[in-house]
Amino acid sequence: MNPVFRTSPGRTRRRRNHQALRATQTVLCPNCGAAKRPHCACSSCGYVRPGLQLKGFNQPNG
Ligand SMILES: [Zn+2]
Repeated sequence: MNPVFRTSPGRTRRRRNHQALRATQTVLCPNCGAAKRPHCACSSCGYVRPGLQLKGFNQPNG
């Protein structure tokens, strides 16, 4: 089966307008200051939120 209509250049551009990749968002860890992804545990110190910090990381503030 072939497509009934040829896709016009404008329609192709409109479709591909949403395909660009975006840079990963980062926030600064309030515990150690390293850049981390929001809503994720810090990869350098393991900090999640006050009272919760993953074990096995360097923990500068305890
Ligand atoms: Zn951290």
